[in-house]
Amino acid sequence: MSSCIFCKIAAKEIPSQVVYEDNDVLAFNDLNAQAPVHVLVIPKKHLSHLDHAAAEDELLLGRLLSAAAKVAKSTAIAETGYRVVTNIGVDGGQSVSHLHFHILGGRQLSWPPG
Ligand code: 5GP
Ligand code: ZN
Repeated sequence: MSSCIFCKIAAKEIPSQVVYEDNDVLAFNDLNAQAPVHVLVIPKKHLSHLDHAAAEDELLLGRLLSAAAKVAKSTAIAETGYRVVTNIGVDGGQSVSHLHFHILGGRQLSWPPG
């Protein structure tokens, strides 16, 4: 059994508040929300981060971004605007080694990020 926490969430071994799901993708509320809307979009298949995506994953990557846009619409942040971000490795601030896109919205976000 995988010890990856997001693989466990994808397998429903750990509960989450699911916002969107299809065959390849799961989106759920972040446990430690940094904005009124903070959803994580993950592939059900384990990939450590964007840098480990291969040519065969290109369709999946597109599906993840399409799911992000769907989540933005269903959580009513699409009109006011939002941010999609993926952290990679130590300098990127990645804390969970399973590819995920953060969708943040519902407040004015600052730029540049810290
Ligand atoms: P990272 O720092 O890797 O970019 O983002 C990991 C995110 O996963 C963090 O925002 C953190 O709050 C969230 N997270 C970590 N463990 C869990 C969990 O068990 N459930 C949920 N829903 N979110 C989690
Ligand atoms: Zn995983």
